[in-house]
Amino acid sequence: MAEKFLLVSQFMVMFIITRLLLTVGKAKFPAHSLPDKLTEKLRTDPESISAASVDFGNIVRETPLAVLHPSCPKDIAALVRSAYHGDGSSFAIAARGRGHSVRGQAMAPGGVVVDMTSLARHRGGGGGSAISVSWSRSLGYYADVGGGQLWRDVLEETLWHGLSPVSWPDYLYLTVGGTLSNAGISGQTFRYGPQISNVYEMDVITGTGELTTCSPDKNPELFYSVLGGLGQFGIITRARVALDRAPTRVKWARMLYSDFSDFTRDQEYLISKNGRYQDNALDYVEGMLLMPQGPPDSWRSSFFPLSDHPRIISLLKQHKIVYCLEVAKYYDDLTQNTVNKDLEKLFEGLNHIPEFEFQKDVAYVDFLDRVREGELKLTAQGLWDVPHPWLNLFVPKSRIADFNDGVFKNIILKRNITTGPVLIYPMNRNKWDDQMSAVVPDEDVFYTVGFLHSSGFDDWQQFYLQNKELLSFCEDTGIELKHYLPSFGNEQEWMRHFGSKWRRFRQRKARFDPKMIFSPGQKIFNRNHSI
Ligand code: FAD
Repeated sequence: MAEKFLLVSQFMVMFIITRLLLTVGKAKFPAHSLPDKLTEKLRTDPESISAASVDFGNIVRETPLAVLHPSCPKDIAALVRSAYHGDGSSFAIAARGRGHSVRGQAMAPGGVVVDMTSLARHRGGGGGSAISVSWSRSLGYYADVGGGQLWRDVLEETLWHGLSPVSWPDYLYLTVGGTLSNAGISGQTFRYGPQISNVYEMDVITGTGELTTCSPDKNPELFYSVLGGLGQFGIITRARVALDRAPTRVKWARMLYSDFSDFTRDQEYLISKNGRYQDNALDYVEGMLLMPQGPPDSWRSSFFPLSDHPRIISLLKQHKIVYCLEVAKYYDDLTQNTVNKDLEKLFEGLNHIPEFEFQKDVAYVDFLDRVREGELKLTAQGLWDVPHPWLNLFVPKSRIADFNDGVFKNIILKRNITTGPVLIYPMNRNKWDDQMSAVVPDEDVFYTVGFLHSSGFDDWQQFYLQNKELLSFCEDTGIELKHYLPSFGNEQEWMRHFGSKWRRFRQRKARFDPKMIFSPGQKIFNRNHSI
């Protein structure tokens, strides 16, 4: 009886999926080419579909026809081959990490979403699932990590070996494939480069369903395309990531400024000490705005002692905008006796308000995982899964003062709606590799500015309008910024974003994903047109 039931239900799943996939792109879907094992891993139940139809942004909704839960890279390759070899037009496929995009970038309307985190759950699934640490004469220590792994798990595993990646995002519950498709930036970027600058090799499933290993020496064009490639060229199933000796503790400091030029001058001075193996350099430099309408601490981290909140609040009332420098220096048993002296030297001559300097000493893992506490608090209050009309920009150093006057003072302060974090910190362009797909401004130093708004379900448009207003200001005054985690509505805007890289980006798309199967949620290529 049980056997009969199993047969009937298998037949039903096959029937539904074949019907669904026949509809996709009005393709003649070759159902026979989809192995039975794969159809078992395709889900079409309302819960799976609804989870893949939303993202962290909570603004865009796009419904896929099915969600694949692969247990090994071969499952993904088989799905891509079905899409590629289908007669007529193909169906779209989007890899989804944790769906922490904010504008539907990991969605596949009418197609198949691949849940990459299920690869990570199948540790026995062969390349693409585990995290393993090795050493070689040419590379030193490195980790091979699955594309669906969370950076938090990579940290935990590598720390077992006394090792750690050197470049991070601020928040660790993002996937390896997701951040490598963008860049992966944080306060370490000025010194160690973005995460995409710390990858030696990858396994990638291209748009023809081939599983290819690529590196700067082996299939370099694919390697450079995929890094910062917004998911357009292939699905990353494994990345080989650079490791270094892990520190154990962190001196973590914040200093407040009322003068913007003092603040940026100090940030730029600190990031000028950026040799990878240089002793008198910081490991992390960030910064943020503090304003009277928001609390001194945000969900990104609780830092200031509660007893100091009243005097910080009165400073905010006095100056309206206060600029907060945030820095960190790592140390371990070998350097614990010298770290304070090193910091003193680095801080000599900084121009912050002297009474507003704060320091903490925390474990390395707690420093890297500092955003988690805020996430858990907001989740408990029902305030994590709300709309996030975020805007992340790269602003050239030569125009950052104009940006402060025109945007921070004249738009953000006047509109008085921003209560969430606004990040601002500089990076060195020479830590980025221009062969990669990621796009940054054409100046040696540029700032990342992140407006990390949370809003209610009814009022996210007011943040959207504020974002529009500040972009118009930059357009009108000729500030040549670039978007990070970009989202544009048409090809013209994408052409402008990529600038001189556009031609190569298109050629790479034609070569590695000729049927334009991947990541349609980025809305870069129109699947109805050929390239
Ligand atoms: P998803 O949103 O699921 O996917 C992003 C894009 O990559 C999609 O186009 C998807 O199709 C594609 N993709 C996903 N996996 C793969 C894969 N294996 N192979 C190929 N393509 C793939 N970013 C930073 O750089 N620094 C930060 O400090 C930072 N902090 C953040 C904090 C929070 C709270 C949040 C929500 C986001 C933050 N981000 C940060 C942004 C984050 O890097 C992006 O959201 C990124 O998309 C990673 O999220 P994800 O793993 O959920 O990927």
